[in-house]
Amino acid sequence: MADIVYRYKENVYFNITNKCPCRCAFCIRDKKTAIGDAEKLFHDHEPTKEEIKNAIDSFDFGESTCAVFCGYGEPTNAFDNLIYAAKYLKRLYPEKELRLNTNGLSDLINKRPTVSEICAVFDSVSISLNAPTSEEYDKITRNIYPGKAYDAMINFAKDCIKGGIKVRLSVVDVIGEEKIRKSRNIAKSINADFVVREYKT
Ligand code: SF4
Repeated sequence: MADIVYRYKENVYFNITNKCPCRCAFCIRDKKTAIGDAEKLFHDHEPTKEEIKNAIDSFDFGESTCAVFCGYGEPTNAFDNLIYAAKYLKRLYPEKELRLNTNGLSDLINKRPTVSEICAVFDSVSISLNAPTSEEYDKITRNIYPGKAYDAMINFAKDCIKGGIKVRLSVVDVIGEEKIRKSRNIAKSINADFVVREYKT
């Protein structure tokens, strides 16, 4: 079985699904089979609730301050397990910050509003903005909802802000200065933090 929980730098990461509605040009899954201290991040089968619970129970969280749901897939593709695991972790480690790294397409993936459940347990969310327009976003992410995904992602970010959790939008540095500037303005316009991530090959 692949790693469900692994350590990368100072944080602990959760890899609860390999499903994703995107096929991003910058996806690390196309470059490396694992990251951090994980040996394998491609699951033979989608992890069950019990397997996720067992992985949490047997992992030494040590001094880590932040637990991040990220992994080699989109965490909201396993929505019930995501919320279950986050609540379980919050109960075991109330002092740790819980962060969701997401493409922001949860409502489209799950075909219903999902932000209130996320905001009830997560402290922060990091959303891949990727680009300043819907057309550029579709080109980069090659998502299965062309024409709809960008607005859904922005609305997801706005709803998370309304829900009272910290929201960060991110882009990768290779999109160029002009698109980074426009993306930063979008983040500012909705009161989200903004980060430019380095593209690692
Ligand atoms: S949304 Fe994330 S996991 Fe999915 S293809 Fe893009 S970078 Fe990869």
